[in-house]
Amino acid sequence: MKSFNLRTVKLRSGEEFRDAIELELTPLEYGGQRYIPVPEKSLAELAFTRATTGTLFQLRFTARLHGPCYRCLGDAVLDVPVNAREYQATSPSDDDELRTPYLVDEQLDLEAWSRDAIALELPEQILCHPDCKGLCPMCGKDLNVEPHEHEEQRDDPRWAVLADLREKLE
Ligand SMILES: [Zn+2]
Ligand SMILES: [Zn+2]
Repeated sequence: MKSFNLRTVKLRSGEEFRDAIELELTPLEYGGQRYIPVPEKSLAELAFTRATTGTLFQLRFTARLHGPCYRCLGDAVLDVPVNAREYQATSPSDDDELRTPYLVDEQLDLEAWSRDAIALELPEQILCHPDCKGLCPMCGKDLNVEPHEHEEQRDDPRWAVLADLREKLE
């Protein structure tokens, strides 16, 4: 389901509608990378609560995203629990706070809402593992697969020769 037609639900003030729906998730861009929801369809709980002043919308689901690790570019999998709320006043003024951008012509845009709600829950860095070692800044090899350190310059034999020379000169 990508959108929900509110005309199919008649609610009086004080009433609540709650249903399990199959949400169709779309890939999202984050930090210049693309993350794919797997599976693409997620079971979600959609609820509306109507009051005289407006309607409260709630959407709850968990998305599993697949994409590149921020540090090593390997595969990362991330479970994102979402519990989003939106509010629409019965007679909204010009105040944006009382109007949800996802409701147009009694159609609730679940695709845009779920994508934005997932983006809000993402960590600063998506990692394959909390202590991913990343790529070596010197040679670019994956430090998780091939842990290594590069000899520092002072251990370089050529520097040792220079140090010897310096000692002889002093
Ligand atoms: Zn990684
Ligand atoms: Zn290296």
